[in-house]
Amino acid sequence: MDIQSLPFSVNYNSASCPNPVTAWPTNAQTAFNYAISIWTLLLNGDQTIEINACWETGMGATTLASTGVESWYRNFTGAPVGDTWYAVALANQLSGSDLNGGTAEMRIRFNSSFTWYYGLDGNTPAGQHDFVTVVLHEMTHGLGFAGSMRWDNGTGDDECSGTTGEGCWGAGTAYPFAYDRFAENGSNQNLITSFGNPSLALGTQLTSNNLFFDGPNANAANGGSPPTLFAPATWNPGSSFSHLDDGTFNGTFHALMTHALANGESAHHPGTIALGILEDIGWDMPDLSDVYVDAGATGYEDGTSAHPFDTVVEGVNAVYPGGTVWIGPGTYTETLIIHRPMTLRDNGGTATIGE
Ligand SMILES: [Zn+2]
Repeated sequence: MDIQSLPFSVNYNSASCPNPVTAWPTNAQTAFNYAISIWTLLLNGDQTIEINACWETGMGATTLASTGVESWYRNFTGAPVGDTWYAVALANQLSGSDLNGGTAEMRIRFNSSFTWYYGLDGNTPAGQHDFVTVVLHEMTHGLGFAGSMRWDNGTGDDECSGTTGEGCWGAGTAYPFAYDRFAENGSNQNLITSFGNPSLALGTQLTSNNLFFDGPNANAANGGSPPTLFAPATWNPGSSFSHLDDGTFNGTFHALMTHALANGESAHHPGTIALGILEDIGWDMPDLSDVYVDAGATGYEDGTSAHPFDTVVEGVNAVYPGGTVWIGPGTYTETLIIHRPMTLRDNGGTATIGE
């Protein structure tokens, strides 16, 4: 029995699901569990992340899925930055305690009406949407890849003071989300500290096609410069600000956290920029550019040489694009699906993979 670094549990169609739901297909649950098996390899933490997963029949026709962080915490013991909201999944790890008790950390709603592809191989046919990819994407938001920036269109709610064109943050409070604190424009002006909240100047920034996430780990994964965020000239509620820029990152190994998923597209790894963003906001994670596997490994495993995985599948699913999986001697009765460039190497002795 493997002891993974980050435990998850899923409540399929929990009582908190808002719209009418219908029974989860078994193969959708299998794909969901596969996505979890990837995320659990990439992050460290010992507080179980509970997910309410809804299989809905009443969602808008163009919405694949959406995620809500169930609660946000600030100024808890272990918080890296004061007066800042942290998604509860992260706050629990940082505090080393279950701050929200027995309630779920995130809720992910899926549109049951889409033509989903439930295969695990990423060979998604044209006309179908890759379910594993969407689960990975939505889970990333639930882990805290989400900002509180809003742009006011002058009507409706979920916005600022009602003045058209204003930008604001804090979800009605005086405190930004952890993700917000790293946002800046192309002139290195930080959105939180350089602009009023709310203000028309901030609204202009949010629709400028010129926003970046300036954090040390995100930058390192992007060749040393801040990665571009999605900030189209027309504010796109739920998509603007809280995604990587499509034009920059579609077709790259960072495509998972762009805002739109084309049919036939698949991405079974978040990419190192998204991981860098999560690390910048506070997640602890192993460096998986080199991943270690040993058939004889027992107990806690995180893919480091000190705590190797015991299956090659885990190594292959965890390793960063272009990285190396070091495989210890032994026989691995496994079937591998390899989605991205990587090197598989023996780590001394003979490793036999396959059946
Ligand atoms: Zn998204």
